[in-house]
Amino acid sequence: MIPAEFDYVRAGSVDEAVSALREHGDDAKVMAGGQSLIPLLRLRLAYPEVVVDVGRVAEMAGIRKDGDSLVIGAMTTHHDVIHNELVRAHCGLLAEATETVADPAVRHRGTFGGALAHADPAGDLPAVAVALDAEMVVAGGTGRRTVPASEFFVDYLQTAMEPDELLVEVRVPTLGEGWGFRYEKFHRVAQSWAIVGVAAAVRRSNGSIAEARVALTNMGSTPVRASRVEQSLAGAGTDAIGAAADFAAEGTHAPSDLNGKTDYREHLARVLTRRAVMAAAGVG
Ligand SMILES: Cc1cc2nc3c(=O)[nH]c(=O)nc-3n(C[C@H](O)[C@H](O)[C@H](O)COP(=O)(O)OP(=O)(O)OC[C@H]3O[C@@H](n4cnc5c(N)ncnc54)[C@H](O)[C@@H]3O)c2cc1C
Repeated sequence: MIPAEFDYVRAGSVDEAVSALREHGDDAKVMAGGQSLIPLLRLRLAYPEVVVDVGRVAEMAGIRKDGDSLVIGAMTTHHDVIHNELVRAHCGLLAEATETVADPAVRHRGTFGGALAHADPAGDLPAVAVALDAEMVVAGGTGRRTVPASEFFVDYLQTAMEPDELLVEVRVPTLGEGWGFRYEKFHRVAQSWAIVGVAAAVRRSNGSIAEARVALTNMGSTPVRASRVEQSLAGAGTDAIGAAADFAAEGTHAPSDLNGKTDYREHLARVLTRRAVMAAAGVG
């Protein structure tokens, strides 16, 4: 289908983008890589009056290290995240999960910030952001603010951003010495969306698990932190992983659809959590 008519604004800077968003409010939509937005426009599920293209805002792309965090520009493409040396060295969980996103064509256009701002519960990267306690840096009319990932994803395709705000960059704490990680994704066919996914990072110390971070993809309208699993693993031996993973579906509200009913997804969450945590802990 052909999208409804809209005006097009190409922003040259964050300030230009924010002022266009402020001017048009609810009638404007940001376009990053366009991989999710353009299909929505074509299906007329979205019909903004103005599209604000941030594709050429140089300050929103690139990756740098700042202390114990990586700062990833919202416009950094999935391809660039996967192949970035800093990400591979300090945040391998993000590289591993991003490699499972879609196909090479989508990964060359789609962006890290776009995937987070889109807030699709089946998207792979929101769960990684939640597991790693990432922080979103958002620009608006009154300046910039930082939103923790745990508060950023509000509901299905909804974030804590206001219509006149722009996601500029994401601060992702690095995984230092002793951390292992794994993203487990269960999907129907290669290169498709997750039916369920699990992002796990585990820090081992003296043969036991000192700390574990686990977050689930597509087990509710937002990514879900598997807190009970994390609590059960803290200070435990690796022989506790199976019992801890049994708590994975606790507090989730998994959808029931053509790809799987709720109880099937709950089963997958338990199985994938066990696999992800075992791999992250270097067991088996
Ligand atoms: C065929 C196909 C398969 C896919 N498979 C997967 C998959 O397996 N896993 C997965 O995780 N994703 C998948 N995706 C989605 C992909 O990751 C997209 O790249 C991503 O969802 C959107 O990124 P984008 O840069 O293209 O954003 P856009 O499509 O440009 O924007 C998406 C939404 O986010 C908003 N937005 C974008 N950037 C910003 C910003 N900086 N500030 C504020 N709002 C912003 C837009 O207004 C829009 O509402 C798939 C997409 C396609 C087309």
